[in-house]
This record gives sequence, C-alpha cells and structure tokens, in this order.
Amino acid sequence: MTPDLRAAVLGVYAEVDRAVAAAGPRCDASGRCCRFTEYGHTLFLSQFEAELLLEAAPPYDTPVSRDGCPFQVDNLCTARDARPLGCRVYFCDPAYQETGNRITEEAVAALKRLADDHEAGWRYAPLHVVLNEAARPAAPAADRMPPAGGRVPLPVV
Ligand code: SF4
Repeated sequence: MTPDLRAAVLGVYAEVDRAVAAAGPRCDASGRCCRFTEYGHTLFLSQFEAELLLEAAPPYDTPVSRDGCPFQVDNLCTARDARPLGCRVYFCDPAYQETGNRITEEAVAALKRLADDHEAGWRYAPLHVVLNEAARPAAPAADRMPPAGGRVPLPVV
C-alpha cells in the first residue's frame, strides 16, 4: 500500500470511529462478537484492512477456523489499534443496528472508491481465509464468499 493510500484508509477508520462514538452503541463486553460461529456471523475485510491488520497483529496459529478470531484473548482484542472496519462498527446493541449498517455501507463504499482511485483492485474475504492465505498462499476457492458488508450472517447449510 502506498503512503497516500494508507493515509486515506486510516482516514476512513478515523471517520468510522467518530461516527460510532457519536452513535454511542452499548457494549456489554461479552466478547461474543469475536466468536463468529457462536454469534452467527462472519467477519469480512478488504485487502487494505487485511494489510493493516497483519502488520500489527500478534502471531497466530494456523489453520485459522471460521469459528472465531485468533486475536481474541481472554475476551479482549489483542489487535485493537489495527482491527478492521467490521470490528470498529459492529456492536450487538439492538438499538444501533440500522446505524451500524449505514456506517458500514458508507465505509466500505469509501474503501472501494479508494481502490478505484488508486487502481488497487478490490478483494473482500472472510477473516479466516485472509489469515490462512497469509500463512499459506493457496487457499481453497470453496472457502471464498461473495462480497458483503462488514459482518454478515453465516450461510445456512
Ligand atoms: S480483530 Fe479484535 S475486535 Fe476484531 S474480531 Fe478479532 S479480536 Fe475481535
């Protein structure tokens, strides 16, 4: 990522953090939102978010399962400063869901515009796919899922 693009992506993060703080969603600190299967959703992230996360996150064991994030330790995030948009925006507060969805849509649209403007291409994939690829370049195509916003419900199988 070029320095300009990095600064722009961090600008999107800052704007998202401001919007979430203004909305003031309630957090019960249950940590369930990072245990994806238990909570019933999947965390997606773009290649920009993945790059920033992988630069700063601690080492993790592979293979990473789709069940939860390896950076959650004792219910806390060990990659907090570099966490992707879905982690910044998502709260389980029922009163915040519509606002959270709007913030996510606007932020992902902003990242897509950056991808276009910088001719960087666009990839949006589940966290476990990204982390497994980072450790093991050839991920099975069947693990890939279609682009969607932030955290999405698990597919019914
Ligand atoms: S990066 Fe942090 S906030 Fe995001 S899912 Fe992992 S532990 Fe949770």
